[in-house]
Amino acid sequence: MKVIDHLTNAKETIFSFEILPPLKGQNIEHIFNSIDPLLDFNPPFVNVTYHREEVVYKRLDNGLLEQKVVKKRPGTVGICAAIQNKYKIDAVPHILCGGFSKEDTENALIDLAFLGIENVLALRGDSLKGETYFVPEKQGHTYAKDLVKQIKDMNEGIYLDEELQNKTPTNFSIGVAGYPEKHFEAPSLNNDMQRLKEKVEAGADYVTTQLFFDNQKYFDFVDRARAAGITVPIIPGIKPVATKRHLSVLPHFFHVDMPDELISAIAACKDNKAVRQVGIEWGIQQCRELKEAGVPAIHFYSMGKVDNVQKIAEAVF
Ligand code: FAD
Repeated sequence: MKVIDHLTNAKETIFSFEILPPLKGQNIEHIFNSIDPLLDFNPPFVNVTYHREEVVYKRLDNGLLEQKVVKKRPGTVGICAAIQNKYKIDAVPHILCGGFSKEDTENALIDLAFLGIENVLALRGDSLKGETYFVPEKQGHTYAKDLVKQIKDMNEGIYLDEELQNKTPTNFSIGVAGYPEKHFEAPSLNNDMQRLKEKVEAGADYVTTQLFFDNQKYFDFVDRARAAGITVPIIPGIKPVATKRHLSVLPHFFHVDMPDELISAIAACKDNKAVRQVGIEWGIQQCRELKEAGVPAIHFYSMGKVDNVQKIAEAVF
């Protein structure tokens, strides 16, 4: 079933979460172990992130550096198929512009359609380490909006090769990313909102937001989106803080602010066990308020460890 239908049919806020494929070499039990404890909260869909290749350097005996391109977390499509097969829950693979030509994208979508996967979250992806700006693959897309358009075209039976015979339309529900605190490359909040509107006009059915720690940022974002004419559901993204290091890592990687009250509470913690508890309590507070405001779903960034997500869900769902 499509995510947009889950959202439209739901009578109350849906619990949902995303998982990362395991590091290369680990087995799929690792993934199942992080899904199992969350099944009690009836997630109708689970997102699976996509990780593109990375450039790594190995120092050789002669002191020179060898450059290697590796994919540390492959397996997004296989995990999605395994989730649907084992749990009968819809899987939402993330699909990127980065590293994909239009032809690669078309073939990936054909694989997903053949596996019975009806949902994708369409993203641009970040630049590779060492690149200042995002560089699209040759014959690939520069912006998520163009990826959305390609998926939408396939949903209408339009493939890259116009001469193909007996073309079967695909049937994907398309989600896109939104940034309550602005995407870091965008010149202004307003400009970023116009870009989001373009993604929705290209065919996105719903928006999932970047993580945030201050609900007011989400509520303002939704108000601005509605004022800009974006009417699709906007799912808030929540990440419970779990370590002291998150104080610097999360703002750095996700370009989000942390409220001073949360920073002080984390700074006062003796160890990471105490920080985890602060993160759980903050998450419960955030989610209760979001649920009361009638958000369509809450999307948890689990990043592999789910005990804190489980504690929040127990208190809220
Ligand atoms: P876009 O919507 O293409 O926007 C990127 C930038 O370009 C923005 O600043 C936008 O304002 C600007 N822009 C858009 N259109 C135009 C235009 N026509 N002209 C000029 N500027 C324009 N990354 C991964 O690698 N794997 C994942 O699985 C993953 N999952 C994610 C899930 C969620 C919910 C979110 C919020 C992010 C996720 N990301 C993931 C990160 C995402 O790939 C990055 O944030 C990326 O930098 C931007 O992706 P986007 O789809 O928002 O890009």
